[in-house]
Amino acid sequence: MSETLQAVRGMNDVLPDQTSAWQQLERAAREIFAQYGYSELRLPLLERTELFKRSIGEFTDIVEKEMYTFRDRGDDSLTLRPEATAGIVRACISNGLLHNQRQKLWLMGPMFRYERPQKGRYRQFHQIDVEALGFPGPDVDVELILMTARLWRRLGLRGLTLNLNSLGTPESRAVYRARLVEYFRAHVADLDADSTRRLDGNPLRILDSKNPAMAALIAGAPSITDHLDPESAAHFATLCAQLRAAGIDFVLNPRLVRGLDYYSRTVFEWVTTDLGSQDAVCSGGRYDGLVSQLGGDAVPAIGWALGEERIVELMHLQGLVADEGSPDVYVVLAGTAAEAVGLGLAERIRDGAPGLRVETNCGGGSFKSQLKRADKSGAKYAVIVGEDEAARQIAAVKPLRGREAAQREVPFDDLAAELGKELQSRPV
Ligand code: ATP
Ligand code: MG
Repeated sequence: MSETLQAVRGMNDVLPDQTSAWQQLERAAREIFAQYGYSELRLPLLERTELFKRSIGEFTDIVEKEMYTFRDRGDDSLTLRPEATAGIVRACISNGLLHNQRQKLWLMGPMFRYERPQKGRYRQFHQIDVEALGFPGPDVDVELILMTARLWRRLGLRGLTLNLNSLGTPESRAVYRARLVEYFRAHVADLDADSTRRLDGNPLRILDSKNPAMAALIAGAPSITDHLDPESAAHFATLCAQLRAAGIDFVLNPRLVRGLDYYSRTVFEWVTTDLGSQDAVCSGGRYDGLVSQLGGDAVPAIGWALGEERIVELMHLQGLVADEGSPDVYVVLAGTAAEAVGLGLAERIRDGAPGLRVETNCGGGSFKSQLKRADKSGAKYAVIVGEDEAARQIAAVKPLRGREAAQREVPFDDLAAELGKELQSRPV
């Protein structure tokens, strides 16, 4: 007997009973991006490894231990994208999209990180990503946050909290970083293994530690907010004021540093209490230095990404997934003459009433078993064609839900119009 093949660990099949939530989320996102004038781009899943090392940073979790990296047959080191921003910046530079131009862009698709699979954390997961390049903010920072808030409203999501912080400029951050290292060195005995390792490479990440034993030490650490340069402080103050004016609630969180090196000034994260420890559903930040760091002009930019799996899970938990819906019409075809006209008849219904879902009985079967399938499909009407009906160019229309209406005969020519009218006037 041959062995059953399994999917790769941490990589999910999204099955038909789950896709309607995904479509709902992606449809809402697409509509919102159109409302704000953002354009889609689609990029390769593979990039040169160098791109991620140079942008995300050598001492980040992603680059240190989460990347799917391999050598191809030409001996080039390639990596499956762990996030979208680096590839988008690369594409903007290599296609000249930032020469005297600004860009408002979005992308959706799979990302890959070699993490320990658990609820809300997978090795292939999906992000919806938005970037605005060429805008110094803080107005565009507000716009990006307004888009996320609109998406939550559109989906009906409740209980999300916006955490907000500013990381200043690389220069002001260097000063803060030195203060932080000094503080943690003075308490080096209290650091856990992860934090000790981060002390040299990426000390700000210690603030992000989820280890409860580290909480008190972190609470006593110097705050980045006290170390902002005047321009970043002004940028942050305006951002906060504009968010308040727009009615967006937020929590100032000076410990929010984000896991990637390229951020500057604004960083934010939407969190929920409904998903356990995988509580971040959407996060973003400004990256004013990244474009020039990757060989482009000095172009300020900001973006965010949401995790689709986590949002979909929240939609299910909060009962927000709309029923995909059954067919409106199931076409029953009894006998060879009926089968000969059946597919054509279904096409005519779809042509004349494009809003209807029409399922044709495929694969034959007795009249009785076809009617059973029609009933099981959840369709509101069965359109029945037998030998006699096929010859007379009429169909029997049988209501399958409710008792009131009786079966009646409708000529093929009138079928689309009748069913269209019927189903519109009686929303089920
Ligand atoms: P976390 O702190 O949960 O590891 P992150 O800071 O690594 O998140 P980002 O790189 O900011 O996440 O990615 C943006 C969003 O993508 C996250 O807020 C989350 O919703 C989602 N996400 C990140 N990693 C995963 C994963 N391995 N599986 C599923 N979703 C993920
Ligand atoms: Mg992570």
